[in-house]
Amino acid sequence: MEQKKSHQLFKIASELIPGGVNSPVRAFRAVGGNPVFIQRAWGSKIYDVDGNVYIDYVLSWGPLILGHAYPKVVAALKKAAENGTSYGAPTALEIELAQLVLKVYPSMDKVRMVNSGTEATMSAIRVARGFTGRDKIIKFEGCYHGHADGLLVKAGSGATTFGVPDSPGVPKSCARNTITIPYNDSAALKTAITKEWKSIACVIIEPVVGNIGCVLPKPGFLETVRKLTERHNIVLIFDEVMTGFRVAYGGAQAHYGIRPDMTCLGKVIGGGLPVGAYGGRKEIMSMVSPEGPVYQAGTLSGNPLAMTAGITTLKILSKDGLYDKLEQRASLLAKGLIEASRKAGIKIRFYRAGTMFCSYFTDTDVVDYKTAKTADTEKFSRFFAAMLKRGVYIAPSQFEAGFLSLAHSEKDIEQTVRVAYESFKEIK
Ligand SMILES: *Cc1c(COP(=O)(O)O)cnc(C)c1O
Repeated sequence: MEQKKSHQLFKIASELIPGGVNSPVRAFRAVGGNPVFIQRAWGSKIYDVDGNVYIDYVLSWGPLILGHAYPKVVAALKKAAENGTSYGAPTALEIELAQLVLKVYPSMDKVRMVNSGTEATMSAIRVARGFTGRDKIIKFEGCYHGHADGLLVKAGSGATTFGVPDSPGVPKSCARNTITIPYNDSAALKTAITKEWKSIACVIIEPVVGNIGCVLPKPGFLETVRKLTERHNIVLIFDEVMTGFRVAYGGAQAHYGIRPDMTCLGKVIGGGLPVGAYGGRKEIMSMVSPEGPVYQAGTLSGNPLAMTAGITTLKILSKDGLYDKLEQRASLLAKGLIEASRKAGIKIRFYRAGTMFCSYFTDTDVVDYKTAKTADTEKFSRFFAAMLKRGVYIAPSQFEAGFLSLAHSEKDIEQTVRVAYESFKEIK
């Protein structure tokens, strides 16, 4: 497989753009090698600038649950563009998307549209702080909530740790307000809340962790998080930017039957265009400007093209039986991959929630950041390269979730499983 043009473009891009990419994970640094430059995409496939075709399990890192260039979405976008691309004034489209979202997320009485998941979580936390009059937040190790200052913090050693910034440029004063706790550790959460509840505004959590692969909540964990936050009037924020409309139409909160106070959405809700959203209980959302004093705004928020892509996508997704079909395909892929690894004699731990999944190259149960880190990243890198050269595009990092779309046919899945078997054998 030749990737000459991709390599040339990457060389040029690297002179002009930091690391040659506009988002770090796109560079293949975690696995070595150079990124593939994409020319176009359709259905389950992406095509690179050298004319290679790949079955795509990245799907723009989650948004494209219908697959690439879904005809109805493309047609709706063309029509919308002819009416102008942005007005900076309200439209009926914003009402329609809000209605579609609120109907299936009953924990939200009101919702505000923004342009990215980062903006959604950053704003939700500001609102939670404004609502409670408290400054500190609790997050879980390995959960990614976008790149806002106070969220770029992970734990050091110990059960709970006061925030140390993950990135230069994040002020210590800012990170100090972030308390980090291991995922699935109810006892550590209880200790932190019992000690500090008077200054804790919110707990923000990925109800299924998709940013260290795919880590599922242990039975009872989310219930404990809900109970502890409720008892101390701490705002519980579910970051469903990845899980929303993915794990189920109603997100992880529907799947696990938990009612958070606030929810952040992104990815699928934008149907492939830049959208994020945050919402929650009425008394909390009444804090948001201009209804309340907490400021948050956006020149392109509620953009008519983005709303159109979101509305069209959600309407298609709401059809009866669609998530059953997705579940059936995902389970077929899961079975195939597990079987292929077993046959090839490679030890993996496989986890899945709906159409998000991860195979960890480890023999340890993965329940949090620490156990995820037991995965053999060198082995993963070789697996990644083996899959890529056989025409299967998976995320270029062991610690990213894979995604499946409606466009992935049984034939695609069979081919993927065959390629995975060959790749497992190759890296043994
Ligand atoms: C992707 C993601 C974000 C950030 O969204 P962007 O649109 O990339 O800013 C936040 N939270 C979670 C859980 C995500 O998966």
